[in-house]
Amino acid sequence: MTHTPVIRHPEKVNRLDNPSPRKPAWIRVKAPTSAEAAEVRKLMREKNLHTVCEEAACPNIGECWKHRHATFMILGDTCTRACAFCNVKTGKPAEFDPVEPLHLAESVKAMGLAHVVITSVDRDDLDDGGAAQFVACIDKVRELSPQTTVEILTPDFRDKAGAVETVARARPDVFNHNLETVPRLYPAIRPGARYFLSLRLLQRVKEIEPATFTKSGIMVGLGEERQEVMQVMDDLRAAGVDFLTIGQYLQPTPKHVAVERFVTPDEFEEYKILARAKGFLLVSASPLTRSSHHADRDFQALKEARAQQSGVA
Ligand code: SF4
Repeated sequence: MTHTPVIRHPEKVNRLDNPSPRKPAWIRVKAPTSAEAAEVRKLMREKNLHTVCEEAACPNIGECWKHRHATFMILGDTCTRACAFCNVKTGKPAEFDPVEPLHLAESVKAMGLAHVVITSVDRDDLDDGGAAQFVACIDKVRELSPQTTVEILTPDFRDKAGAVETVARARPDVFNHNLETVPRLYPAIRPGARYFLSLRLLQRVKEIEPATFTKSGIMVGLGEERQEVMQVMDDLRAAGVDFLTIGQYLQPTPKHVAVERFVTPDEFEEYKILARAKGFLLVSASPLTRSSHHADRDFQALKEARAQQSGVA
């Protein structure tokens, strides 16, 4: 199906309210009202930690927090970029908390997590983009919870020489960096980033630590064409990426870029089949797929897929 792409200038996006089409029946969102969600919220407040679940207004928060799955967002709650799709606050960040790695690792232990996902805001203001804080968090989690596997979802570390290498050498079990959208839409959707820089980051991680699983994701429904999504898949495979996630973009507030259209569940299924055929070890594609959704279960699936591929299983 073809459709007219809508590109809105980010400045206009910030000035105008952008009405999105009505949500279809297949987008169902549960509020985080369970007792378990209340416990997660309390722990985050006590430890002065942030989650991307809350800051990005993730639609899966009710489901994830009921199962005590949360994605920690380190280096504060203020981002130095202003992507048109993202709900995280933009501005000049405060000093980051040096005790954050300890508090994060204590929370992981208290929650009994088998697999933890750690992401961050962009910190273009720091010399290393926050790389050392990622490493400190990985190391502290491993010290306090040696059985817990660690997945990180990093910014692009643009213009931060050596930052990707520093984080990759800490050997997280999964290294995720999201491309977010197709290259043509970068100026409108992800203006501070460069598509080929993000691809190169993923390729670099594989060069440094071939055993680390690499993962990336895009949102659809922003005006991308099907063949552009196919090209992104090919580019990611050429960079050796193992795991692809594709989810529907949802507009967090009327000030953010509008949803151009809702991609149907059948189209997601088709993307999944095509991506598998292109050689990804694992593909998650559905309207509510988010890069950290079911990350623990997906990590097991990744390990099994690699074992099968190498004939171990
Ligand atoms: S999908 Fe990820 S960001 Fe969303 S609620 Fe679940 S763990 Fe949090």
